[in-house]
Amino acid sequence: MIIAIDGPAGSGKSTVAKALAQELGLSFLDSGAMYRAVTLAVIEHDVDPMDAEGCARIARALSLEFDAQGRIQIDGRPGEPAIRSETVTKAVSAVSAHSEVRAAIVPQQRAEAVRRGGLVADGRDMGSVVFPQADYKFFLTASPEVRAKRRAHELHEQARFAEILADMQLRDHLDSSRKDSPLLCAPDAIPVETSSLDAQGVVRLLLARVRKDAKS
Ligand code: C5P
Repeated sequence: MIIAIDGPAGSGKSTVAKALAQELGLSFLDSGAMYRAVTLAVIEHDVDPMDAEGCARIARALSLEFDAQGRIQIDGRPGEPAIRSETVTKAVSAVSAHSEVRAAIVPQQRAEAVRRGGLVADGRDMGSVVFPQADYKFFLTASPEVRAKRRAHELHEQARFAEILADMQLRDHLDSSRKDSPLLCAPDAIPVETSSLDAQGVVRLLLARVRKDAKS
């Protein structure tokens, strides 16, 4: 089974995708971690994030694997926590907008689904581009303020709320307005507004949807 969970930054995708995967006995794929890994290597190699071919060369050369806990390994080394740094977060939308970079990463995401015999994948284009045949597609949303609050809480940086909100809105704008695989709700995806729900509430909702079909 393939379940695609897309949405903007801070919509709770990865927490929900991980929990849903666990409940259903499926594996979890953090597709954003792959773009973050490429971005980290781009920065380490002093390549300009706007240089499409330079970024693509890096993307093609990297070996990206996941350990048993689903954490990314870059050329055999753990990618966490470096891929979550602010420097990477600020550059990742520029790097991931290049079609040449996506052309190197998307086949690896599809190969992971085959190798693992199904998965729950979270990202921006899981339902629209990477897994158009997914059994379930969910698109999580929440107001920008709620999403920034969640992220500030996660980072223990409540004092930086305004800055986090601004960075998030810029990243969402870049991800939504790019030509290749923009952030959008696929026509056959189920939109889920999560502003008034906690992660457990969202997981319950998604599970109910999947289990309802299993019963009928
Ligand atoms: O999910 P996360 O916030 O870690 O993703 C980081 C960035 O990676 C996104 O802002 C987006 O630019 C890129 N991304 C993407 N396609 C995906 C997942 C992430 O372009 N499927």
